Amino acid sequence: MKIMAQMAMVMNLDKCIGCATCSVTCKQTWTNRDGVEHIWFNNVETNPGVGYPARWEDQRRWRGGWRVDQSGRLCLRQGNKAERLARIFNNPEAPSLDDYYEPATYDYQRLIKAPLTGLTPVARPLSAITGEPMAIKFGPNWDDDLGGSALWAARDPDLEAIATKVELAFEQSFMFHLPRICEHCLNPACVAACPSGAMFKRVEDGIVLADQDKCRGFRMCVSACPYKKVYMNRLTGKAEKCTFCFPRIEEGQETVCSETCVGRLRYIGVILYDRDAVGALAAADNPLAACRSAMLDPHDPGVIAAAKSDGLPSDWLDAAQASPIYELAIRQLVALPLHPEYRTLPMVWYIPPLSPLLEATGAMGGDDTDADDIAATVTAMRIPLDYLAQLFAAGDQAAVAGSLMRLAAVRQHMRARSLGRDDSAAEAVGASPEDLERLYHLLAVAKRSDRFVIPKAHHESTAQVAAWAGGCPVGGGPGATRRKGRA
Ligand code: SF4
Ligand code: SF4
Repeated sequence: MKIMAQMAMVMNLDKCIGCATCSVTCKQTWTNRDGVEHIWFNNVETNPGVGYPARWEDQRRWRGGWRVDQSGRLCLRQGNKAERLARIFNNPEAPSLDDYYEPATYDYQRLIKAPLTGLTPVARPLSAITGEPMAIKFGPNWDDDLGGSALWAARDPDLEAIATKVELAFEQSFMFHLPRICEHCLNPACVAACPSGAMFKRVEDGIVLADQDKCRGFRMCVSACPYKKVYMNRLTGKAEKCTFCFPRIEEGQETVCSETCVGRLRYIGVILYDRDAVGALAAADNPLAACRSAMLDPHDPGVIAAAKSDGLPSDWLDAAQASPIYELAIRQLVALPLHPEYRTLPMVWYIPPLSPLLEATGAMGGDDTDADDIAATVTAMRIPLDYLAQLFAAGDQAAVAGSLMRLAAVRQHMRARSLGRDDSAAEAVGASPEDLERLYHLLAVAKRSDRFVIPKAHHESTAQVAAWAGGCPVGGGPGATRRKGRA
């Protein structure tokens, strides 16, 4: 057993309004430069929809993530080392600029300098790359611009994977927003696929970074990442990705996207995992259960003893015990991983959207405060359960239903408490009233210090971190951590 600490995030999709403030502030901080115009480390998608880059979830095309072969071994979908090396100079599984979009600006000068005529001057779109006039055909949240219309939503790979008939007429379609960053996976396919050792997972906090000095631009990381969260700078030809704002995290501050999130829907904390178990968990039969098992109980005496003997600083252990991530993902089982079937053990989890459930209960003539009526609606939701299960639970509808039922129980319980009534909401979902009240506190009225429990980096103990890193395998394999100390 080798206990490691990992920064993780949970986002509550019920609260996301799709304003893209997170995307813009991230871009201003990290990708406001030439060569990265088309890159959004944080992007917000509308579901159903094709996402960004278009159809990133279509692993038949991109061959991202891991698979388990016939002998039960975990392998990159990209193939073995020889197969990957054979594609170094011609990598058909890397998205093109068209899959992202050609970034545009507008001819604002024309508005200012056009000669006086009887016609109103028009600012035509210009390519941000060539400066030439262009027609805008796609963008980072195109589905939202088209209101989730059948034209784009029908191409969503998650819809293709389910048999449910989904109504995509504009007035009746369902939609919700999905903000996405790099998952800072425990078993990062990008790190394993990189032939030059440029991609690495930090020992001290699990943040996955791209070393600009070592990157040779082979784009293997871009292909191997099933979330398509590594990008190529078109001028330097090097890989760039979400840094989890590590300079801020090291100082105990939340990421920029989290600080500026209008909905206050992001939570950041430390989780503990056993590095030696990563390979087996990533290859497990049930990917959702494996993701959950990866997060160790920070109050377990055995885990505490192992963490201390592995040199985890005591304030990090305290932070792991106060982590909102462990509470939401494991104790309360309301947060779920995005596409656990990619087997990268992602560390940005999501609380599925509940609002349409209560709305649907009312629309179907039920009582949105009644547990039985809500339970009946779960199977007939406007956002089909199997669609959410494709996204967050490798098809396990019971896991999504369990999360939604517990979220509904919180509302029921708090309403009953305000009215001084008895209620059975907690019992119905196998929770205690205290559990539901703790969840209410975290989801509804949490202070900043509850949402972000981020211990500061221990710069004074780099020798300790070096010793820690020495006990880890180098590059390539599942859960590999290679580099010590700061990026
Ligand atoms: S999502 Fe996972 S595989 Fe993709 S870049 Fe991030 S750490 Fe790597
Ligand atoms: S800032 Fe928050 S509410 Fe707005 S799109 Fe981003 S995650 Fe959603």
